[in-house]
Amino acid sequence: MSGMQIFASIPEMKAHVHEAKSGGKSVGFVPTMGFIHEGHLSLVRASVRDAGFTVVSIFVNPAQFAPHEDFEDYPRDLERDLDFLRAEGVDVVFTPPRDALYPAGYHTYVEVHGLQERLCGKSRPQFFRGVCTVVLKLFHIVEPDVAFFGQKDAQQSAIIRRMVKDLGLDVRIEVCPIVRDSDGLALSSRNAYFDVDQREAALCLSRSLDLARTKISAGERNACRIIRIIRDEIEAEPQAKIDYVEIVDAEELLPRDKVEVGDLIALAVYIDHIRLIDNLII
Ligand code: AMP
Repeated sequence: MSGMQIFASIPEMKAHVHEAKSGGKSVGFVPTMGFIHEGHLSLVRASVRDAGFTVVSIFVNPAQFAPHEDFEDYPRDLERDLDFLRAEGVDVVFTPPRDALYPAGYHTYVEVHGLQERLCGKSRPQFFRGVCTVVLKLFHIVEPDVAFFGQKDAQQSAIIRRMVKDLGLDVRIEVCPIVRDSDGLALSSRNAYFDVDQREAALCLSRSLDLARTKISAGERNACRIIRIIRDEIEAEPQAKIDYVEIVDAEELLPRDKVEVGDLIALAVYIDHIRLIDNLII
């Protein structure tokens, strides 16, 4: 049906985007690591609605994985991804090979100090440097007018917003709500790693956030007490091990004593060796 095109080469990608722009189209961009699910597709739909021309990138970015992490095992299925994206009316899928973005002798990285060291940055010190570097590189290639990110990765979205502001990049950042399965589990490509028991155990994340939401609705404002409620719920699940549970302001990601509207409750939990994140904006 649609004429979706797939480019692996940077010059071809650039040429095609320039053609769309010179035809007066605005460019929407959705960067992903592939293994497309409904969470990704919600961003794609937002882009197709918002922009005249939608580019989706699929690139499992080695710079954001530590050596002991799951870069090699990360789920990949390009044909399946392309079918999903074609059905949404995506114009171009960009699938650069690793060497195109990180050729031999590559040495330049982007860091957002402060923000990148908080929350997930404590256990994944390389992570946001890798994310910011690849996103900036992709922005230079795709030159989007608007780029779409998910609230699922709340810290990532906050850091990208800051990078764009600090560097004065000419791109609007839109952050889309978390898409969940009907039982509450936030969709993630890494959910493909779960067996049935682990999948069940993983529900403790969203359950704990639901409990927090209920307490806050009933008037609780004390961050320590809210965190205690969340931790108790997760610790009751034998397969779960907490990395962190924090309540922070949504801009600087610094801890709060008393929660306020707009604050972020963020958590990371291991189910066996699989690391999951989830969050709630108050
Ligand atoms: P990834 O492929 O995991 O790097 O994700 C690509 C984009 O999709 C990021 O902006 C994510 O925040 C977003 N995303 C991933 N999962 C979800 C979800 N469950 N709901 C909304 N956005 C998501």
